[in-house]
Amino acid sequence: MEYINEFYGTIKYNSETEEFMDEWKLDEIYESDEPDHCICGHEIREVCIVKNKLNNNTLKIGNCCIKKFGFMVDGWSQSLLSGLKRIKKDSLKAMNKSLIEFCHKKKFINDWEYKFLTDTKRKRKLTPKQMNVRLKINNRIVGII
Ligand SMILES: [Zn+2]
Repeated sequence: MEYINEFYGTIKYNSETEEFMDEWKLDEIYESDEPDHCICGHEIREVCIVKNKLNNNTLKIGNCCIKKFGFMVDGWSQSLLSGLKRIKKDSLKAMNKSLIEFCHKKKFINDWEYKFLTDTKRKRKLTPKQMNVRLKINNRIVGII
């Protein structure tokens, strides 16, 4: 319960700023076999674990709240989430457009990386060198977001 207050409190305080994203990190996304519950009471199947970087508290929330609070201010969306979910599951997979745009906007990737990811996202076969670059970027992004 105190986590919940903390989460809502942080959102209330920071939803208009970028600090929200700095403090809360999306730690994990998974599909739950059993219906689970978001902190708002919503029944959810896709569970997002968000972690407070300052004190490591974690919360289970659904897309309902990911969308509802703050996250959307920073451009969070369903397609961003699914892109992130994909590379969290398998870091050899390509980022989708939303995730690439988001990372570029947040300066998590530079212009060269932005171009590289955009150019290679639809390629089936990457050279080992390209694969290596993608892997490096993906791992870095998963570490940040
Ligand atoms: Zn919710």
